[in-house]
Parts: sequence; structure tokens; C-alpha cells
Amino acid sequence: MFESLTGRLGDVLGRLTKRGALTEADVTEALREVRVALLEADVALPVVKSFVKRVKTKAIGTEVLKSVNPAQMVIKVVHDQLVEMLGSEQQELNLVAVPPVVYMMVGLQGSGKTTSTAKIAKWLTEKQGKKVLMASLDVRRPAAQEQLKILGEQTGIATLPIIQGQMPVDIAKRAVQSAKLQGVDIVMLDTAGRLHVDESLMAEMDAVHKEAHPTETLLVVDSLTGQDAVNVAEQFKSRVDVTGIVLTRIDGDGRGGAALSMREVTGCPIKLLGTGEKLDALEAFHPDRIANRILGMGDIVSLVEKAAETIEKDEAEKLALKMQKGNFDLDDLASQLRQMRKMGGMNSLVGMLPGIGKMKKQLDSANLDDRLLIRQEAMIQSMTPKERRNPQIIAASRKKRIAAGSGMSVQDVNRLLKQHKQMADMMKKVKKLGKKGIARGGMQ
Ligand code: GDP
Repeated sequence: MFESLTGRLGDVLGRLTKRGALTEADVTEALREVRVALLEADVALPVVKSFVKRVKTKAIGTEVLKSVNPAQMVIKVVHDQLVEMLGSEQQELNLVAVPPVVYMMVGLQGSGKTTSTAKIAKWLTEKQGKKVLMASLDVRRPAAQEQLKILGEQTGIATLPIIQGQMPVDIAKRAVQSAKLQGVDIVMLDTAGRLHVDESLMAEMDAVHKEAHPTETLLVVDSLTGQDAVNVAEQFKSRVDVTGIVLTRIDGDGRGGAALSMREVTGCPIKLLGTGEKLDALEAFHPDRIANRILGMGDIVSLVEKAAETIEKDEAEKLALKMQKGNFDLDDLASQLRQMRKMGGMNSLVGMLPGIGKMKKQLDSANLDDRLLIRQEAMIQSMTPKERRNPQIIAASRKKRIAAGSGMSVQDVNRLLKQHKQMADMMKKVKKLGKKGIARGGMQ
């Protein structure tokens, strides 16, 4: 998978790393080639455009960290944007709903729907310890129900007995009833496909969906059909609430266009990859691992990540030292605010920082969100260096200027100064308590 794209990107970005200093022209040239490589990999044009634009903005706006070179930074930016394009976080199957949980499999004929049904059922049984029942709702293709029955026998997974002439909605109903009686955890409904998306297929899918209330509606698409796979996904999504995509025949897909465009175009997460005909050829879709596979430059990416971590650690250590000395000025507050923003904003950090935990309630009631962090930084930036080191010298007239300079009110400036004073006082207390105090001085 992705062989050709990996080769092309490797060439382009590899050439960058051979340069000493990197100019904007080098980056622009490299991105032009990245663009061609993505288009040749059959990635949708709007996705390519927005990808290149994002990489460019980020690459130009990113500070180059100590101990890495600009080309390595660009590679890291390309990697991060690839991860984002692929959907950022891994999206897992929902296993936690109240049993019997229903998974409905939808997709065109030949996409690999029945095979994927059996693969997922096998994975649920063997790896998750679930009791699974499979049922084929495909009454159109004569051998479809038989095919699932055979796969059930091969894998040792129960299938719903076939009743000739029963209609899809009734089969779905029977499957759920029988699952309840037998204490089944997950029922997998393998619906009928068609050669093309048509109205009768969509109507049948709707009816089954209404009857079975699936927790997961998994759309199976064939990656070898490239952009058609993305179009098919759009059509299905417009009619039924698709919760995830299973992308099959990845093993034969050297280009990867469908995998790369799917998330951005449809907004639907890819949850699983079919990687072969065998029933264990199924993989979870991890955006970061896929990006690593595509770029093939894992070493550089982790090098840059380590450099970034070290710098954050340095800053945090400096701050901790100042706190221990009981000396915490507005520059330190600004640096703390900046770090909080970088590390995932207010909510993830409240409680972790000395002093802030105690004020959490107060901050919550003041509706402290990430925008406020930015505004507070702006107020501090509007002060003179002397004022930042020594806030008590800020007179009323200066408060007005600071408020005007940062687009805030005098009350906001007062609130900030009060917050800083509380924190600084607390730091002083910490100092008195000594080292032991920092560890368990009741700060939280
Ligand atoms: P359905 O009509 O959508 O139910 O498609 P099937 O499940 O019957 O699959 C059609 C063909 O594709 C079968 O020969 C499968 O073995 C094959 N197939 C399914 N998934 C994969 C895959 O991930 N990789 C490969 N190489 N073949 C697959």
C-alpha cells in the first residue's frame, strides 16, 4: 500500500534534507512536487490543495527548534498534516452499547462486504471475547446467504438459519430476537449490495436501519476503485448514518488515493482496513501509523518530537526553579499561559499547575476558556517589561492604556493582576513550606 507515494515523497523530502539552509523557495518547490505526488496517488484535488496550503502555512510559521534542521521541521509538518488528513485519532468500533449490539454492513456488490462481515465477527470473537451472530439479508444474490453460512462454519461463528423467501427487514428482526434469546453480544447484519447505488438499494437499507437500530453502520468500499470509492461513500452517507468505513483490498492498492481522501471528503472515519482474502487480514486504521508508513521517515519525525519535548521541559524546569524561589512575575504567568495553550488548553491542565488547582472553582465560574488564555497573554504583552516584573507599579492611567492596547476592559486588567497576585502569594507560601511543601503542601 502507498508504495508509489512513499517513493515519491521520500525523494522530494530526502532532497530537502541534503541542503544546509532552507529557503522559502526550496519549500515551495518541494511542495509543488508533493502536490504532484499526491495527485498521482489519486488523492482528490480539493484535498490535495488544502493539504499543500496547510503545510505551507505551518512550515513557514513554525519556529525551527534547536538541534534539528529546517528540512527536518518541514518533514515533521508534512507528517502532522498527513495524520490530520487521515483523521487524527484512531476511531474504534463501538463495543460498549447495551447488547445485543447491532452492526449493519452496507456497500456495493463485490466490495468485500460478506468477507469483511466474517473478518470482523472473527476478530470480535477471538480478540474481544464476544458472542457473535451473523445474518445475511441478501435475498437477491442466490448464493449470498449460503456464502455467509460457509464462512460461519469456517470460523466457528453462529449464523442465523436461512428461511427461504423471508424479506430483509424480517430477517433483521428475527436476527435481533434470536440474539436476545441466545445472549449474543453482537449481531452482524450483512445487507444486500448492488452494482451501483440505486433507489431500491437505499430504500431497503433505510428500512433495515429503522428496524434494527444499529450501533455501527459500516460502509465497505473497495480501495482499488480510488475516487469512485469516495463518491460511493458520499452517496451512502447522504442516505444512511454511516458510522465508519471499512476499506478493503488495501493489499493491492499501490496508490492509496481512497484512503487518503476519504476522511476529508466524507467526514467519515475509516475504522478498518481489509488487507487480504484471508479471514484474519483485517487491521485497525491508525492515522499516525499510516502516515509513518507513507512517509517512511519515522526517525526524523521522532527526532523533532523529542526536540520539542526537551524545550518544553527546559521551560518548565526554569519556571519551577523560579517558583521555588517564591518569585513569580507576570512574564512567568505569560509563559505558563502559553504552555497551557500548547499543551491542550485550560481544561486538560487545570489542577496540574501549582496554585491553579486551588483556584479552579473560581476560574470555572469566571468561564475561563482558551480564548481567555489568549486575551490574558495579550494584556501582559501590553505592559512594559518593568511592569511585568513589578506589577504593583501599574497606576490607574496605565491600566487604561493596557486595556486599550489589548482590546480589554480595565476590570479585566484588574482581574488578571489579582489572579497573578494570588498565584505569587501562593508561590511564596510554597517557598516557606520548603521542598516538602511543593510535593504535598495541600496545593490542590
Ligand atoms: P460482497 O459482494 O461485497 O459481499 O464481496 P465479497 O465479500 O464476496 O468479496 C468479493 C471478493 O473480494 C472475494 O473474492 C473476497 O475474497 C475478496 N476480498 C474481500 N476483501 C478483500 C481484501 O481486503 N483483499 C483482497 N485481496 N481481497 C478481498
